[in-house]
Amino acid sequence: MGNKDTMLSDTYHRTIDYMRISITDRCNLRCVYCMPSGGLKFLEHREILRYEEIARVLRVAVLTGIRKVRITGGEPLARKNITGLIKIIRSIEGIKQLSMTTNGILLERYARELAEAGLDRVNVSLDSLKPERYREITRGGDLKTVLRGIEAAERVGLTPIKINMVPIRGMNDDEIEEFAKMTLTAPYQVRFIEFMPFVSEDIWNEKHFIASEDIQARIERIGALIPANMKKSGPARYFRFEGSAGVVGFISPISNHFCKECNRLRLTADGKLRPCLFSETEIDLKPALRNEGSDEEIRRLIELTIAVKPKGHSMRIENVFPGQDCSPIHMSQNRQRRPMSKIGG
Ligand code: SAM
Repeated sequence: MGNKDTMLSDTYHRTIDYMRISITDRCNLRCVYCMPSGGLKFLEHREILRYEEIARVLRVAVLTGIRKVRITGGEPLARKNITGLIKIIRSIEGIKQLSMTTNGILLERYARELAEAGLDRVNVSLDSLKPERYREITRGGDLKTVLRGIEAAERVGLTPIKINMVPIRGMNDDEIEEFAKMTLTAPYQVRFIEFMPFVSEDIWNEKHFIASEDIQARIERIGALIPANMKKSGPARYFRFEGSAGVVGFISPISNHFCKECNRLRLTADGKLRPCLFSETEIDLKPALRNEGSDEEIRRLIELTIAVKPKGHSMRIENVFPGQDCSPIHMSQNRQRRPMSKIGG
């Protein structure tokens, strides 16, 4: 079935070695910028890939060059026996890095088990350090629980801890500096991610978007940022304050595309493989997985997804805002893009 050491490059000479796997579309929070207030229609249980099916996809994906895996959702810690999945993935030869993106609500409870099962590290999504505001943004989340989760993750070595914040003007942008200051004493990577136009009702508009450049300018009021010398493994650009314990990072999917360096595929909870977060193209692996398709067939589908990975996406500041024909947001209003929780953010 081919050479284990194959590294597949796509049409644009990018090495595709990273798969983000959404294991559920359900979440124990309802962040206002991620989920519509009316809620979402969740997938039926039988539509969701079983852990053995995810493991099979990964065993085949290793043969196409996948080496890094990130588990996401929905909220991955909300799915039953999550540590069982981590153990299975850890046992797959060829997977070199295994991480998870979580909202941290259940992290205190699971951190030790996850580390023992073989998880390397966690990214925690956190958009406010004010308890009342955190509750509002997440529609009910408890900030203290997340902060205890982060401490627990640190204690058991799920490090370096990355904290992802999405600054939204008028909602939490007055906390940008506070988040950056965390890195003065804590060895965290605090990353600021540009707000992207997914289902978020009236929250997504030009007034609320803040480009990385502006976020960085605000942080520089605290002190000069020096480029951090780090092994590059993703789209973030990293900086540190003189003598700081941690670093700040900027991820700019809208203002500064990193498509040229994009090395990832995304597997949705219902088994659709996506070459790009912003493209509606997806290839369904479930029929092959459930109808006795061979590993060869699954491999062909993965290779096909890599082959159709677009050169870049069209989400740009000048065309994401309403009022312009054919803009992605125009499309989202009419055709309802899948929200992040359904793709796997
Ligand atoms: N539940 C997990 C969590 O909260 O990290 C994983 C899934 S969540 C969909 C993954 C990430 O997507 C979170 O960091 C969240 O902030 C981000 N996200 C959701 N909607 C977004 C949007 N419209 N723009 C930018 N990031 C978004």
